[in-house]
Amino acid sequence: MKNICVYCGSNTGRRSEYLQAAEALAEQLVARDIGLVYGGASIGIMGALADAVLAGGGRVTGVIPEALAVREVPHRGVTEMCVVSSMHERKALMESRSDGFIALPGGLGTLEELFEILTWSQLGFHRKPCGLLDVAGYYRHLAAFLDHCVAEQLLQPEYRAMLLEADDPARLLALMENYQAPAMDQRLTRDEL
Ligand code: AMP
Repeated sequence: MKNICVYCGSNTGRRSEYLQAAEALAEQLVARDIGLVYGGASIGIMGALADAVLAGGGRVTGVIPEALAVREVPHRGVTEMCVVSSMHERKALMESRSDGFIALPGGLGTLEELFEILTWSQLGFHRKPCGLLDVAGYYRHLAAFLDHCVAEQLLQPEYRAMLLEADDPARLLALMENYQAPAMDQRLTRDEL
């Protein structure tokens, strides 16, 4: 994996563990020479993550929609900043630039991005690993809910298994490196979506 896209909160959250996890993930990315692709903001966990990668000497690509630049305050020190015209363009560019995806703690934006990238994988649009960094049990209930979806037969177990989970960045990256996407008979292309 050369570049990993990280989805995370535009807020910092109430626990110091969230920012510490962003720093620990940054350290792992730099150590493995993996570039960070993210939403381009200087605020919240997003900003802390980018700062930590840059401080370690790593590469950071920000992707921010023009209209959001006021609210999310673009990071001024990133290696590359891509200003796009819409949220859809942002997510598509973040996908095409990345070899895997990780969600750190975040709110609705983070959840939306994580579930969109998982559904793109379910459709066969990409075969890249998706990981959840479960910091301080933040995503415990989400993981339990996905198990409930499987038990209720509304989510197939092989699609549930696409979401890799760990509470430690090094373990999560190791899972992602060994990831095998589910076999699919009918793969869709980008154009069909
Ligand atoms: P949040 O997790 O809500 O703090 O948001 C994290 C990031 O997700 C921010 O950069 C938001 O701009 C972005 N975001 C918010 N809503 C959406 C959406 N509907 N689609 C994609 N990204 C979003």
